[in-house]
Amino acid sequence: MISQDTISNPLSRTSCENETDCSKAAIFPCHHCSKRLCLEHINEHNELNIIRIEELSDEINNLTEFLSNFGTEKSFENARNQLNIWKKQCFDSIENIYEFHLNEINNLEIELNFRLNIFKENFESTISDLKSQLSYFKKISEISQQVISSFILSFFYFFE
Ligand SMILES: [Zn+2]
Ligand SMILES: [Zn+2]
Repeated sequence: MISQDTISNPLSRTSCENETDCSKAAIFPCHHCSKRLCLEHINEHNELNIIRIEELSDEINNLTEFLSNFGTEKSFENARNQLNIWKKQCFDSIENIYEFHLNEINNLEIELNFRLNIFKENFESTISDLKSQLSYFKKISEISQQVISSFILSFFYFFE
């Protein structure tokens, strides 16, 4: 608070220039607004300055705290995490494509082996028939050109 004793130039007698009408004599130029004010309004305006100083002090404290907590660690940690997530997604994607094609190869192998076994069984059965016919003809020592031709045809039928 500013007391009457601290005020200089008490001889000035202009009216208080406060926003609200005040008939008291102005005794001092205000540090807050530069108007000439009475003691009461000087003190009021001084309170505003004190409030503003407290606000500025709070702002400085907040800024200091913000700067003390501010670091690059978190940002880089975040970037590393994002990169690791991306890497895992790529690996997962490659693993899925690999599994899909491995499965296709395995299924093709099963299918081909199945067909090959059927072919082998049929082939062996036909060969067995032809062999017995051949031994029969050998045994009776009699075979026509026509029979030999049909014999050869039956044999090569498999490879067409
Ligand atoms: Zn003022
Ligand atoms: Zn006043």
